[in-house]
Parts: sequence; C-alpha cells; structure tokens
Amino acid sequence: MSEAPTLRDRVAISALRGLNWVSRATKRGQGTVVGGRAGLAISPHLLATLARGRQIVLISGTNGKTTTTALVAAGWGGEVLTNATGSNMPAGHVAALAGAHDPHVALEVDESWLPAVFTQVRPRVVVLLNLSRDQLDRASEVRQLAERWRTALRDERHCVVVANANDPLVVYAALEAPAVRWCDVPTPWQSDALSCPRCTLAIERTPDTWSCSCGFAKPDDITTSLRDGLTIGGEHVALHLQLPGAFNEANAAMALTALREVGVDAADAVARVNEVSAVAGRFTLRRWEDRTLRLLLAKNPAGFEALFTTLEPQNVDVWIAINSRVADGRDPSWLYDVGFERLRGHLVWCLGERRLDLATRLEYAGVDFRVVDDPHQLPRNDHPVELIANYTAFSEWLARSVPC
Ligand SMILES: [Zn+2]
Repeated sequence: MSEAPTLRDRVAISALRGLNWVSRATKRGQGTVVGGRAGLAISPHLLATLARGRQIVLISGTNGKTTTTALVAAGWGGEVLTNATGSNMPAGHVAALAGAHDPHVALEVDESWLPAVFTQVRPRVVVLLNLSRDQLDRASEVRQLAERWRTALRDERHCVVVANANDPLVVYAALEAPAVRWCDVPTPWQSDALSCPRCTLAIERTPDTWSCSCGFAKPDDITTSLRDGLTIGGEHVALHLQLPGAFNEANAAMALTALREVGVDAADAVARVNEVSAVAGRFTLRRWEDRTLRLLLAKNPAGFEALFTTLEPQNVDVWIAINSRVADGRDPSWLYDVGFERLRGHLVWCLGERRLDLATRLEYAGVDFRVVDDPHQLPRNDHPVELIANYTAFSEWLARSVPC
C-alpha cells in the first residue's frame, strides 16, 4: 500500500541528494547529515515516506548497536541498506534511505530518538540491546528513556521486538509490546538497574535470573539462549564468531533472532555473521609507528565492563585514551563508575585529553599506570596491546593507525 511521494517529498529528496553530492565533491564529509537535515526541514515526514514498502530492522541500546547493525546487515545477505557511515539520528536515516532503493534495511538508532524513528519508520523488527547511562550531561535519565520506549512500543502490532531479557530496563520497555522475542544473553553491567523500574524496590538476582517482590521479573518465555551454545526457537545455531568477547556473542544472538523474524535461514545467516572480523575499525589489529594494537571502543561504564572481560589474563599492557569533547560527554566523572580495579596486574598507559583524570581514578583503584603526554613516548611492542578509547579518542587512533 505504498503511497506516491508528495511534491514536497520529491523536492526534499532532490535537495538532500544535491547537498550530499556537493558535500562529497567538496570533501567536507560524507554529506549524510547536512543533506538529511535539509530534507527533513523541507518535509518533516520524509523519513516515513522513504521507509514505506521496505523491510526494516531498527537496532537501539546504549552499547553494541553499531556492531549489531553490522551483523544484521552481514547476516541478511545480498544488498542491505544501512547507516554504517552516517549518523544514527533521523538526518542520517533519511540520507541513508534516499541514497538507494534496497528493500532490506538495517538502521542503528540513537536511544533517545528511537520512539520518534520507530513511529515514522514502522519497522518489521526492533532490537533492544540494553540501557545504561551514557554521556550523563546530555542524555535523559535511563528510566525516563525506558518509559518512552514502552509508550512507543505498546500498541504496535506490525512489529516484533527482540529484547534482552537480562536487562530489567529493556524488559520494562518491551513488556507490553504485542510480539516480543526474549533473548537470554550475557549482560554483565547491572548497576543501572539495581532497583525495579516498576516499583523502585531492590531487584534480587541469582546467577540465572532476577526478580522484584512486586512480581516484575525476568520473562520465562525465552526464545534465544546462549547458555549452552546458541539456540533460537529451540534450534541450535553454530555460532563461531571472529569478533571477541561474550558481549559480541550477545550482539550476534540478537542480530540472528531479528533475521529469523524477517525470514532469513538461520544456518545461512550465522555462516555470514561468523565471517565478520571487524566493525568500523574496531576489534582488528592495527599498526602505528612500530606498535601493534587492537583498537577497542568503550564510551561508558557498561562498555568498559564488557571489554574488560575480553582482556588476556596475562599481565599485558593496556592503553586507555579518554577525551571529553561534546561527542564524548563533557563530564568525565563516569570514570568513577568503571570497575578499573579489574586491571590490577596490568600496566595501564593513560592517554588522551583526560589522561590525568584517568590516572587519578587508577590511583584510587590500585592499578599501576603511566601518564603519556605524547603518544610517541609509548613503548614499541611485539605483542599487540589493547587500546581502549572513548568516542573522539577512538576516531583519532583510527585515523592515526593502519590495518595490519
Ligand atoms: Zn518491583
């Protein structure tokens, strides 16, 4: 039942494509955001128009959405449109959708934009990974966010929600949606859901489950489990990722659950997902001036917690780069919520504009560290080091280094 675009929509799409072309031609960037903003200014409903007639999977959550979006796109097979290089807000979405006519679409969505994008795009599937604090000085409080997700998802019968059953805030958001596929996946970070989203009493946890005395609890109708290998809907799926860490297995399990809902054969999908070795420069080995490093992105306490589980147990050095620009969040006080105590036994090299804040935190954590004012002071190495960086610091190191 696709309606023809209105004249206003057609003008908006032309403006968007024109601006993107100029932006690329003048090397001012990939043009996705500037053109998208112009298109939305001309036609505020442009996202809905461009989404019509396509099969769309939306992916949101505080951590893992870029990786999960890449895994959905890879696992789907064939031509899949995605906002891999663009923004995860509506301007980036319209720019991506205006760029091609592919019927299959996987879009990463910023958590706070999910309700608005969801309502316009009417996706076939929405994947809800997790909710935790991120960029305290500009993101709305996570409980309010869970409430807004819940309101948006409540009455949407056209959509299947793929939701993390181990994150109480995600469960609260998805519980009233008409069709939910619950995923029992590792979720180490629980400090943002210590109290019940429904009644505020303390949540009780065992290794396998969680519940509140008000009756709010982990759903028991689990579709996807990683407890004994990956099973989706009772079917074993041969997941053998190249990407490291239990958090990436969780991302892959949820991506494959979403693909099952759009009719992709699980064996075909997992074979393609198993092949993915890097996502936007993350996880692979890179070289920089006689040094080998594995570049990892972590933007918040939950992200650090997940990466710490992938570190080698030996006393390898860890480099950590922290900035606090607008894109990172100006307030670095979240460093005090990261369990840096887990790095005792490693030597940590503190980099980035906030290296002294990091060093102070490590001092309290009892972790050995060195403060590095100039990256050229970093030791040369044979054994690759792990470099964990937050958003803008990650971008700097990505630009500075080359793939091995
Ligand atoms: Zn409760």
